[in-house]
Amino acid sequence: MNKRDYYEVLGVSKSASKEEIKKAYRTLSKKFHPDINKDANASEKFQEVKDAYEVLSDEQKRAQYDQFGHQDPNQGFGGGADGFGFDDIFSTFFGGGARRRDPNAPRKGDDLQYSMTIDFMDAVFGKEAEVEIPKDETCGTCDGSGAKPGTKKKTCPYCEGSGQMNVTQDTPFGRMVNRRTCQHCEGSGQIIEEKCTTCRGQGKVRKINKIKVTIPAGVDDGQQLRVTGQGGPGVNGGPAGDLYVVFRVKPHKQFQREGDDIYLEISITYPQAALGDEIEVPTVSGKVKLKIPAGTQSGARFRLKGKGVKNVHGYGTGDQHVVVRIKTQTKLSDKQKQLLREFAEISGDIPEEHSSSLFAKIKRTIKGDS
Ligand SMILES: [Zn+2]
Ligand SMILES: [Zn+2]
Repeated sequence: MNKRDYYEVLGVSKSASKEEIKKAYRTLSKKFHPDINKDANASEKFQEVKDAYEVLSDEQKRAQYDQFGHQDPNQGFGGGADGFGFDDIFSTFFGGGARRRDPNAPRKGDDLQYSMTIDFMDAVFGKEAEVEIPKDETCGTCDGSGAKPGTKKKTCPYCEGSGQMNVTQDTPFGRMVNRRTCQHCEGSGQIIEEKCTTCRGQGKVRKINKIKVTIPAGVDDGQQLRVTGQGGPGVNGGPAGDLYVVFRVKPHKQFQREGDDIYLEISITYPQAALGDEIEVPTVSGKVKLKIPAGTQSGARFRLKGKGVKNVHGYGTGDQHVVVRIKTQTKLSDKQKQLLREFAEISGDIPEEHSSSLFAKIKRTIKGDS
């Protein structure tokens, strides 16, 4: 089930004061209280009102809701990591509320979803961007009626304006009557005699809207941003729906992100690991020095506090974790090889067949396998 807009639930405007919200909550919670209201869906409505009040009465939660909407990236958006490459996917969802209502009552327009692929660093630091959204708008030529200006709609002669038709069918059991939506007027009860040439009788035209979107710093893959009033047009004078921009973050060559933390793997040499060193490592905000203590093992992890991603909701900044791998050198000079052999011999851990020491040679001779 898609959630209804909280403001709509409480019947208040987006700019409603705390007092107005409180008042609306009191009235509605009384109205739908399951102890008072015996309607089948009263408790569901009561819960909806409670949920809406919980968010809108809390300043921070409300600000977040205004920016992000119902944030549940894994529900209804096909969230997950496999969204790369899906640029500019555009779809309509929510379907504009499931309640049965007066068809002529004002209704909020459809909410729209737009998938936007962004660079890793733009997700970390935020950016101003522009998106091009194809959007149906009320046709300006006919004001949405679909009829050519100066002409009028006619009552559909087939259904006499009811939008429904009786279809009679003779069957062995007698005459059956089915009610169907009138196909001549598609249920509207009215027929356009002369169609508006701009919209070909559709009442709406498709336009490309350029909308400025602020990518919030710290946004993560699959998260969404709500742009109020940029969704589908309202019906019967209702408000426009909202646009939900779902971010798809491209992977980075070096950094891996997990929540607000960054993971980076770096290679060091065996002498660096054994003797210790100070190295420079990249972070999202530039290079920093990292001390490698003597005796560092491959796979050791170091934490650079506060060098991760700033939380999108303002809850601090993540860390960077540096995972160290010891890289085995491959191109060795004779001198280096010689020194390594000596090193191994001193450590007593050289395989016999590579040993050049007199002692090892003697050992091999005694064994008789020269
Ligand atoms: Zn009709
Ligand atoms: Zn038109």
